[in-house]
Amino acid sequence: MPLPDVMDKLVSLAKRRGFVFQSSEIYGGLGSVWDYGPLGVELKRNLQERWWHAMVRSRDDIEGLDSAILMHPRVWEASGHVGGFVDPLVDCKNCHGRFRADRLQDAQCLKKPSKVPGAHSECQLTEPRQFNLMFKTHIGPVEDTAAVIYLRPETAQGTYVNFLNVQQASRQKVPFGIAQIGKAFRNEITPGNFIFRTREFEQMEMQFFVEPGSAPEWFEKWRAWRMDWHVGLGVDPERLRFHEHGPGELAHYARAAYDIEFDFGGTLGPQEIEGIHNRGDFDLGKHQEFSGKRLEYVDQAANKRYLPFVIETACGPNRTLLALLVNAYREEPVPGEEEGRTVMGFHPALAPVKAGVFPLTKKEGQPEMADRIAADLRRTFPVFYDDAGAIGRRYRRQDEAGTPFCITVDGDSTRNDDVTIRFRDDMGQIRVGAAQAGAVIGRYLEADIVRAESTLVPPA
Ligand code: ATP
Repeated sequence: MPLPDVMDKLVSLAKRRGFVFQSSEIYGGLGSVWDYGPLGVELKRNLQERWWHAMVRSRDDIEGLDSAILMHPRVWEASGHVGGFVDPLVDCKNCHGRFRADRLQDAQCLKKPSKVPGAHSECQLTEPRQFNLMFKTHIGPVEDTAAVIYLRPETAQGTYVNFLNVQQASRQKVPFGIAQIGKAFRNEITPGNFIFRTREFEQMEMQFFVEPGSAPEWFEKWRAWRMDWHVGLGVDPERLRFHEHGPGELAHYARAAYDIEFDFGGTLGPQEIEGIHNRGDFDLGKHQEFSGKRLEYVDQAANKRYLPFVIETACGPNRTLLALLVNAYREEPVPGEEEGRTVMGFHPALAPVKAGVFPLTKKEGQPEMADRIAADLRRTFPVFYDDAGAIGRRYRRQDEAGTPFCITVDGDSTRNDDVTIRFRDDMGQIRVGAAQAGAVIGRYLEADIVRAESTLVPPA
């Protein structure tokens, strides 16, 4: 049984609540390019910062890098992208649709969407031809062939060409890694499924340089660590799985490759959100050959030099964010109420807003007290102050935004200097001193608790 398809509901919630908007919408939109709104940008940043912390800041064997999008055109010849970063493209001479020849089963005939391209009697598909996915542009004022450069289709090459710079500047010894987060561009033939496959996206990649003989061992370590990281985001482990690339799927240079797949439900089903690859010395070897510069690592202690092997972990934050949205989305009945609620049950550490702060009424000094609490908490984490409408409606709005905690100031609060904390996931409430509210929420965040439930309050 496939898991339910929540994509249409998510696209509408994402727009309504300000997670994701279509690019250039007022001009009719630009196909498969998306903008991240106020809640989406916070969620994406939290995700990227968590990755950066896990990969760079909390380790002494990985260095950070931020390389440029534009690179010397020879880089893409060396990497094989100019010759080989292609997908097979077929055109339909009848409907003028363009499809990936190897993914026809996922596409729809433009004349008859219930059929796949080629299956309708009027389809006239051409023979497949190779289509390069790299976006071309020109550098400098003259648009001739000598000035052609590419928007990078992956961040990895910026890491390979800087391998010795980073190693020498940081004085790291092999084994060590280089990590970066940045934009990548691919002129995908069939983008789609909301932010799953887009033409402009981001990557969080890490290349770990090891002695050739130890590569299989490091590959296994990284495979396990990366799966643990996804589980730590609060993703249901039942929806995650490994997909091993068989001999037919393996890129010619790769020695081993696994994808981490998330089950998006519906027709999309399980799909790659991250790839883990043992790339051997292919990349450094090619750049050494094309640049004419020695890129070997000198192991002074062992008195030897060699090209390290690379274990790569390549994760897409946009696709992982879509997985987080799908994983978080739930509709449920509310006891005693006619209308149910929609909840985005994000891990509190990833939630765009950590706390809603509400005065119950607009009198008796409640707004002033709530405002003071909100201003105080805002120094530590994002807070949303709301005094509009019935309290139940305000809670529902925060449930939809995925806000894990709500703090309510009522008539007793101004007398007793205490507040109610309401927890998103079980809707349970506790009463605490006004000054303690921030500390209670802080304890959840520090303890990295995945659900916002009143019964899980970690001890002080
Ligand atoms: P796919 O087979 O889905 O095209 P890939 O194997 O080419 O992906 P990689 O080159 O390994 O992907 O890139 C690493 C990660 O970057 C992917 O796991 C995915 O999360 C992300 N990614 C790749 N292409 C896109 C895209 N067009 N839109 C959004 N994210 C992408």
